Amino acid sequence: MLTSILTDDISMLQVGNKYNAPLMVAHRADLQRTLLNRALALGVTVRTGAVITAIAEDFSPRVQLASGEWISGDVVIAADGVKSFVREQIAKRKGYQNGTMSTGDAAYRILISEDRMKGDQKALGLLRGVTGSRWMGPGGHIMAYPLRSNKMYNMVLIHPIRPTQQQTESWTSRGTKAEMLKTYAGWNSTIRHLLSYVPDGEVMEWTLNSHAPLPSWVENKFVLVGDACHPMLPYVAQGAANAIEDAAVLTVALSVIGSTNSIDDALRIYQAVRKARGEAIQASARETQRALHLPDGKEQEERDRKIRDSTEAATKRELGAGEKRNPDLWSDQQWQDYMWGVDVMKETLEKWSEIVLAQPTQTPISFSKRVD
Ligand SMILES: Cc1cc2nc3c(=O)[nH]c(=O)nc-3n(C[C@H](O)[C@H](O)[C@H](O)COP(=O)(O)OP(=O)(O)OC[C@H]3O[C@@H](n4cnc5c(N)ncnc54)[C@H](O)[C@@H]3O)c2cc1C
Repeated sequence: MLTSILTDDISMLQVGNKYNAPLMVAHRADLQRTLLNRALALGVTVRTGAVITAIAEDFSPRVQLASGEWISGDVVIAADGVKSFVREQIAKRKGYQNGTMSTGDAAYRILISEDRMKGDQKALGLLRGVTGSRWMGPGGHIMAYPLRSNKMYNMVLIHPIRPTQQQTESWTSRGTKAEMLKTYAGWNSTIRHLLSYVPDGEVMEWTLNSHAPLPSWVENKFVLVGDACHPMLPYVAQGAANAIEDAAVLTVALSVIGSTNSIDDALRIYQAVRKARGEAIQASARETQRALHLPDGKEQEERDRKIRDSTEAATKRELGAGEKRNPDLWSDQQWQDYMWGVDVMKETLEKWSEIVLAQPTQTPISFSKRVD
C-alpha cells in the first residue's frame, strides 16, 4: 500500500512578525485560567455548576437554572458550546434546522510530556521548537504543536471513523492506545515514535460532526457566541480564536452604545461583523478535510507539489509568493490574511456607521467610551 505522508510546517514566529501580533497556541486550561482571572479582576461574578435548563418564551433576557431559580439581565450571551442548549431552543421555536452531519472522521487528542521523550532527539526537537506541524496522509491528517513553555507536545489526529464506532461529540470520551497505534501503523517513524510515548488510558477520541449555519445568531435579547453559533471542526484549528473574536466584537459593540435601549443595535453590529466571516472559516473545514486526506495518486502528488512550491516561495520571500496558493489553507498566505490580517474591533466601529447610522435608532449612540 502506498502511504505518502507530507509534512507542512508553520513557523509561529514568522506568522507573528507578519501580522504584528503573536500567533499563540495555549493549553485549554491555561487560556481558561487567564480569562477567568481577568474576569474576576474586572469584578465579574462567576457561578459554577449553574446549568441552564430553560429560557424565556419570548427570548427576553431571562434564563432558568436546574435549581429552578430564574436569572434576568439586559442581554443573554450564550457561549454554551457545540451542544448549545440555547441554540437548540432557538432552533426549536423558530423552526431552524439544528441537525448534525457526520464528517466521516473521528479525532484522537493526546498530550506527550517531555520526560516521555527522553533520548528521542527528533521528538525533542519538535517539542522545543516554535513550529506547528501538519502531517497528511491517505484518509487523515495530524496537527501538532508544543505547549506549556515547550514542556508538552499536543497532537490532534484525525482519521476515518471505524465502522462500529459510536457517534459522540463528547470531550471526555476515550479511545484506546492500541487502536490508535494500529490506525497509524503505516505512517512515518516520527509519528509512530511520538504515539508510542502516550501513557495508556490517556487517549481521548471523539467523532466529528458538522453543523448547518443558522439563519440568525440573535433572537431578541439572546445572542450566540463561539461554538454555540459556529461549531468549528479541528481541521481549521480556529475555534477558540473565533470565539475570542466574537467576544472582542461584542465587547466593542456593547461598549459604545449609550444606553441599554440600544442593545439591539449592538447585537445587529455583532452579527454583521462576525456571522459571514465566522461561517466562512467554519465552512473551510470541508475544503481542508478534502485537501489533506487525499488518497495516494495524481491529485495527491499535485497537492504535494503545490504545498512545496508555495512553502518555498514563502520561505524565500519571493515576490508574489502569496499568489502561489497552498492547498492546506492553514499555511496559505491569502487565507492567513483573511483569518489573521484583520482588526475586527476596528471593523466593528467602521461598520457601525454603515449599519446603524443608516437606520436611525431609538436613542442616540455615544462614541464617548474608549475601547482599549
Ligand atoms: C479535537 C479538537 C481540537 C481542537 N483544536 C483547536 C485548536 O487547535 N485551536 C482552536 O482555536 N480551536 C480548536 N478546537 C475548537 C475549540 O476547542 C472550540 O472551538 C472552543 O472550545 C469553543 O469555545 P466555546 O467557549 O464556544 O465553547 P466550549 O469551550 O465548549 O464551552 C462551552 C461551555 O458551556 C458550558 N455549558 C454547556 N451547556 C450549558 C448549559 N445548559 N448551562 C450552562 N453551561 C453550559 C459547558 O460546560 C462549557 O463550559 C478544537 C476542537 C476539537 C474538537
